[in-house]
Amino acid sequence: MTVATHPSDETLLRYAAGTLPAGPKLLVDLHLAHCPDCRQLLRAFESVGGVLLDDMTGVPVAGDALARTLARIDAGPAHTATARHRPHHPLPAGLSLPAGIVLPAPLAARRIGPLRPVAPGVRMARVHVDDDRDTSVLLFRIEPGRSIPEHTHEGLEYTHVICGGFSDPLGHYGPGDLVEADADVEHTPKVDDDGVCVCIAAFEGRLRFSGLLGVVLRPFF
Ligand SMILES: [Zn+2]
Repeated sequence: MTVATHPSDETLLRYAAGTLPAGPKLLVDLHLAHCPDCRQLLRAFESVGGVLLDDMTGVPVAGDALARTLARIDAGPAHTATARHRPHHPLPAGLSLPAGIVLPAPLAARRIGPLRPVAPGVRMARVHVDDDRDTSVLLFRIEPGRSIPEHTHEGLEYTHVICGGFSDPLGHYGPGDLVEADADVEHTPKVDDDGVCVCIAAFEGRLRFSGLLGVVLRPFF
């Protein structure tokens, strides 16, 4: 798997400092599993130390960041340090994955609601990230050529591709990629014509879908 799109330095700094909320952190964990470059960068950020990072960047750092950073260095590479021994839940109801695709372990460890149709060719499920109430984490299964429904949100939007691919005006994204989009970036991601796309998205701040879909989706939130 060749990963082409990576989390921003700021997101990795927040991860290293222990201040990235659990929702986006889950997506970064999924990306790190596929990306040796980001694992290396993260180790570099972690070895600098949380306190020093705070002085250099102004990124808010948790009070216990240094202790946690030292514990992570002791624990070895980031991808093993972030692995948690959580129970694996069964595949969410209604989710069929293309042949050879399995849900990545950090995602399978989360409780995922049933997959429901929300637009033509689009099914969506809520991923329960109870330790982050300010982020909506949603799993999408989108048929070829379809789009993620139009929506607005207040903060950053992170999308990680599990299989298939999609495009927006800024580029094309495939398995392992992590795409960050600002709230004021207008983008309507469209799935490739040649296969189903399964992706997970984390939306910071209040998330709203436009029109009738907003009403249909109320039970999700
Ligand atoms: Zn990366």
